[in-house]
Amino acid sequence: MSEVIYRKYRPMTFQEVVGQKPIKITLQNETVSGNVAHAYLFVGPRGTGKTTLARLFARSLNCINRKDDSSEPCNECEICNLIINGRSMDVIEIDAASHTGVDNVRENIIANAQVPPFNNKGFKVFVIDEVHMLSKSAFNALLKTLEEPPKKVIFILATTEIHKVPETIISRCQRFDFKKIPQVDIIKRMAWIITQEKVTVPENILAEIARRSEGCLRDAESLLGQIISLSQGNVTDELASLVLPRSNWHEVDTLVEALRMKNMSTALNQINKLVSEGIDLEDFISNLIDFLRQIMLYQIIGPEFSLDFSEDLTEAIKQHAREFPLKDLSRLLNILLSKLSVKDSMIDQLPLELACVEFLLDENEILQNKPTIQVNAPTVDTVEPKKKPLTSNNKANFSKFQAEWPKIVQETKPFNHSLSAILQTSHPINIDDKSITIGLEYSFHMEQLNKPQIKSHLVEVFNKVLGCKLDINFQLDDKHKENHNNFKGIQEKDVGEAIDIFGGEVV
Ligand SMILES: [Zn+2]
Repeated sequence: MSEVIYRKYRPMTFQEVVGQKPIKITLQNETVSGNVAHAYLFVGPRGTGKTTLARLFARSLNCINRKDDSSEPCNECEICNLIINGRSMDVIEIDAASHTGVDNVRENIIANAQVPPFNNKGFKVFVIDEVHMLSKSAFNALLKTLEEPPKKVIFILATTEIHKVPETIISRCQRFDFKKIPQVDIIKRMAWIITQEKVTVPENILAEIARRSEGCLRDAESLLGQIISLSQGNVTDELASLVLPRSNWHEVDTLVEALRMKNMSTALNQINKLVSEGIDLEDFISNLIDFLRQIMLYQIIGPEFSLDFSEDLTEAIKQHAREFPLKDLSRLLNILLSKLSVKDSMIDQLPLELACVEFLLDENEILQNKPTIQVNAPTVDTVEPKKKPLTSNNKANFSKFQAEWPKIVQETKPFNHSLSAILQTSHPINIDDKSITIGLEYSFHMEQLNKPQIKSHLVEVFNKVLGCKLDINFQLDDKHKENHNNFKGIQEKDVGEAIDIFGGEVV
């Protein structure tokens, strides 16, 4: 059944192909204009549509019913049918991963390429899958053909490992890089398939299939097929769990929570409990890494980084992002990657992301530490006019803060415009020589400002402007409007009054 789903819904037109839009458009334009290359190189991960597009392209070029201004094959004419059923003499597919594939290229394909296509209006198309597996002699034979390409012959070479393809071959091909299919597109495609199959599948199961297939549509369709074949029209979580290993995100969340709180016994107990319950450890580790990565990215990028989790897990990730120091997160990910052999299930870009985070974290730390060093080091003090730090006199603190407030807002602008905009609508509700509490109108402002990198930047700015390192706290102010108007108003008034108004709150 799984194979059936995959074959049954193999896209028959360019319009039906999921993803790879730039590649589709180029191939379609070349079909209509007749301006085709002698050789194409389709590069990209498995299951992203390389052979599907190769076959489709071959059909479009050969279909006898195709209209001049259209790139879509009719899929009904004799030629389309021969190609669809793999019986065409003009469209030849070879799997270079097999031994016969290697011999075929060397001995047969090259000779066969000299024979013109049966369909004299069309092209002879050779699709060589996994082309990187060819032997050196096969590559040489292929290269010779590409150097003097026979008329009306097209080679489409597909590979998942471009680094194994000789440069001399690559340079003779029009190259297309296939991307992993985004999860949303995979989900959309599966949603369409289940309506065709008249089956209901809960959304969370579709999301889990999409996540597990990691951008490979073929894997997603195959998993979906297995699940559908077990059901009688109605897929339940229980049924899906027979095919999909039980999702363990909540267990992952529990462990991350323990690690964040630096609670060693809870962490180790959780791991041992899971193992005794027979959890798939490899799967768990790969989810743990994915989960931590999403926390890290959400912390850095913020709400623009979309999370593909259920509502409660999304909330959990947001909370971890607020409270898990970036430095600990990146360190934990590094340790996990170095101690565990998870390369196969690993996210390709994670090591690079971590390298960037680590490098910039060090930079940030130096920046953060700088003002403290300045205060302590007399040599620097003598160069810069010495700033008067906040004193334990609240009245003086308050007046200093008020006088410097516009400067603080201004200083945050280059770093982040919305940060300075939020500050403009906020005001201090409490200040002493160690900390300041800033009153805010909206909780989403608080969420923004509480992000570690925003907060540390603010500490820096306050340090620069006020000449002292303050802890910054944020609080929702239920008398926001009144207090804020007062704060803005009193900036021009007597400072003494300010203390009176905020006085009740000042320690
Ligand atoms: Zn046709």
